[in-house]
Amino acid sequence: MKNQAVVMTDTRVFEIQDVPMPEIGDDEVGIAVKDVSICGSDMHFFDGGAYSIFPKETALPFVLGHEVGGEVYAVGKNVKNVKIGDRVAVEPGVPCGKCDYCRSGRYNLCPDVVFLATPPVQGALKRYISYPAHSVYTIPDNMSTMEAALCEPLSVGLSAVRTGEVTVGSSVVILGGGCIGLCTLLAAKAYGATRIIVTDLFDFHLEKALELGATDVVNSKNEDAVAKIQELTGGKGVDVVFETAGSPYTAAQTSEIVGRGGTIIMVGNIMQETPFSFRNMYKKGATLKSIFRYCNTYPIAIQAIASGRIDVKKIVSAEFDFEHSQAAFEEATDNKVNCVKAVIHVE
Ligand SMILES: [Zn+2]
Ligand SMILES: [Zn+2]
Repeated sequence: MKNQAVVMTDTRVFEIQDVPMPEIGDDEVGIAVKDVSICGSDMHFFDGGAYSIFPKETALPFVLGHEVGGEVYAVGKNVKNVKIGDRVAVEPGVPCGKCDYCRSGRYNLCPDVVFLATPPVQGALKRYISYPAHSVYTIPDNMSTMEAALCEPLSVGLSAVRTGEVTVGSSVVILGGGCIGLCTLLAAKAYGATRIIVTDLFDFHLEKALELGATDVVNSKNEDAVAKIQELTGGKGVDVVFETAGSPYTAAQTSEIVGRGGTIIMVGNIMQETPFSFRNMYKKGATLKSIFRYCNTYPIAIQAIASGRIDVKKIVSAEFDFEHSQAAFEEATDNKVNCVKAVIHVE
């Protein structure tokens, strides 16, 4: 067995390098990586946008990739939950298991979490990795390792929808129809939302949203999204608004389109100063919440996909092999208009 990694050696520059096979600890499994899907945070690294948080000098060389599906080829001597030959989804955050947050079940808030592809922790765009067994989940036969990788972005959608308490009959607006917006849409539909309005600037994203079950879409480049949503809802607004675009503009819209007694869920990573009308929110008795990653979602994501309740593979718009990882990242980063999700088939 020969291991290789896609190593980012400079901004927008990848090199495929031979690297040692991973050592496998007693509580770890060895995984032959099969699929890695590319996330917004990976792209942010690729084009240098993340240097403001992780300085280039210390972050590079760096291996990206935290959305991973693979097959177990070795197990440490203490491992009981998976066996050799199992195909698995890899949860990228490994919490400490000991702090107050972990012990209260909110392990996404663990201050000592070890998260793949977050410096100094290297990512998983390699042929073989070792990984703590308790953060690895076996998938059933009718599910692909690509779908296993997609459990990661779907987990964000599931977490958003659970936090927003979406239920049968809920009306929702999803601001942003990129990968996370579409995963939120899939989750909202699975939880029973009957009115799902998606806004975006790109028609391709909105067509995908309609294909995945949106009831209405609004291109906010061509029309006033707030006015259109008011029109669609008879001036009432909706039960739950999800901001997934990570933009100050959409963030500012949330308090205008949430209905009375409704909930706003901040999902996107907004880096700029953002205008937000607390007065609007207060007048409606609305609630504002945010989510940070997710916890306890992998088993649900796997069941939802395996049962056919959520067809997550439909978000994939481009597929590449390991040797073409550079092209995969260029497509994902430079062709956002026509690319929702790019996946690298490692093997
Ligand atoms: Zn991700
Ligand atoms: Zn912890």
